[in-house]
Amino acid sequence: MDTKFSNSEMQALRQEVIPPGHTSGNTFYVASAKGALLYDVEGNEYIDFAGGIAVMNVGHSHPKVVAAIKDQAEKFTHTCFMVAPYAAPVELAEKLCRLAPGAFDKSALFVNSGAEAVENAVKIARYVSKKAGVIAFENAYHGRTLLTMTLTSKVKPYKFGFGPFAPEVYRMPFAYCYRCPFGLSYPGCDVACAEHLKTFFINHVAAEMVAAVIAEPIQGEGGFIAPPPGYFKKLIEICNENEILFISDEIQTGMGRTGKMFAMEHFGVEPDFTLVAKSLAAGMPLSAVIGRKDLMEKIHPSGMGGTYGGNPVACRAAQAVLEIFEEEDLLGKSVALGEKVRARFETWKERYEIIGDVRGLGPMLGMELVTDRERKTPAADQAKALTKFCIDRRLVILVCGNLGNVVRILMPLVITDDQLERGLAIMEEGLASLTI
Ligand code: PMP
Repeated sequence: MDTKFSNSEMQALRQEVIPPGHTSGNTFYVASAKGALLYDVEGNEYIDFAGGIAVMNVGHSHPKVVAAIKDQAEKFTHTCFMVAPYAAPVELAEKLCRLAPGAFDKSALFVNSGAEAVENAVKIARYVSKKAGVIAFENAYHGRTLLTMTLTSKVKPYKFGFGPFAPEVYRMPFAYCYRCPFGLSYPGCDVACAEHLKTFFINHVAAEMVAAVIAEPIQGEGGFIAPPPGYFKKLIEICNENEILFISDEIQTGMGRTGKMFAMEHFGVEPDFTLVAKSLAAGMPLSAVIGRKDLMEKIHPSGMGGTYGGNPVACRAAQAVLEIFEEEDLLGKSVALGEKVRARFETWKERYEIIGDVRGLGPMLGMELVTDRERKTPAADQAKALTKFCIDRRLVILVCGNLGNVVRILMPLVITDDQLERGLAIMEEGLASLTI
C-alpha cells in the first residue's frame, strides 16, 4: 500500500512513533527503488551511493531477485527449517561452501543478521576450543547485540550506556597505516602490527585462553581501513601456531564488494570461519557462518538454529544473487567500477587539500578528510557538510570512521556510467565547496 503522506508529514509522524535512537540519516521516505536509484514518496529521484549500507550489490529490485521472492512467497514463506526442511538453504549452502575462501570441506549455518552470524561463530569457536577469550580490534564493528556490541570498538553511539558488556573480549590495535598505532610505515614496518599479537599474549591475555581472533578484512564502519598485503598472513600464522581460530567478518566486504567474491581472497588466506550477510540476499534478512566442516560438525544436535534461520524467501533471493553474479559478470563490473572511482579519488586528492587518504580495495573505497594534512586533524564537520551538500542535490553518501571523517561509497555494482558520473560530479562539487 502506497502512503498518502508527504516526506515532511511522514517525518512528523515518525517522530511520534519511532524512538529517536533508531535514527535515519535522511528525511525523505522511499517509495520505490531500481538499480542505483531511489524514488521518494513525492516522486523525487536520488542516486544511491550507499546501497542500504553495502546490501544492494546487485541493485535495488533486480528482476531476478524479485521473481525469486515472488515465486517462493506464493509457494510458502515459512515452515521452519528445524521443523519441516526444504531445499533452498541446502542448495545455497552447497554453493557458498564452494565459494568461500579455504581449500577444505565447509558447512554453512544460516541465521538472520550480521550480528547473529558473529554471535554464532564465537559460540562455535568457544565450543570446539573449550576456551573463552576473543580478540577483536580497535575500529572494529561487529553489530549491536550484547556480544557484538562488546566486540565493536566505537563507544559512542554504539556502546555508550549499554553496559555491562560481555566478558572475555580483548582488543588490540589494527593495521591502520594512515594513523599507524606503532608510528611506523609500510613496508619498512614488516607488519609489526600483526607481530604485535605475540606481545598481546604477554600483556593482555594468554594464547591458551583465546578461542578466536575476529577481524574484518577491510574495516567498514570503523573507516574503510584496508590492511597492507601480508598482514593477515602473519596474523593467521600466529593464530595457527597458538591453536586460535580465525573468524573473518566479511559482512560488509563480501559478495563482490572489493572486486572479489570475498575480500580475504586478496590476502590469500584461509580463515576458519567466513561470515556473510548484507548483500548475500539483496535486502532479505539472511546471514551465514561458513566454517570448516570438521569444526562445525562438532556442535551437538539442536545446539544452533533459530525460528527464521534459512528462511525460504531469503534463501531463494540469495540464490538469485549468486546467479546474477555469474550471468552479469558482477565481479568484472566491480573491478572496473573500483578502478574508475579510485582514479577519480586520487585526482581529487591532488586537487583538494582536505583529502588526507584514499584507501580500500575494488570499489570499497573511502576518503579520509583532514583539516591539516601534516597533523592529520580529523575533518568530521566537513564530512558531515559534504553529506548534506550531496543529499541536497539528491545523492546519498555515507560517512564512517571512529573519528567520523571518512567518506565512503557502497553503490550498487550495477550502477550505470551516467548515474556514476552524475554522482561523482556532485561529490566533487561538494568537496570544492568545503572550507578548512
Ligand atoms: N559486521 C560488519 C563488518 C558490519 O559491517 C555489520 C553491519 N554494518 C555487522 C557485522 C552487523 O550486521 P547487522 O547489522 O546485519 O547485524
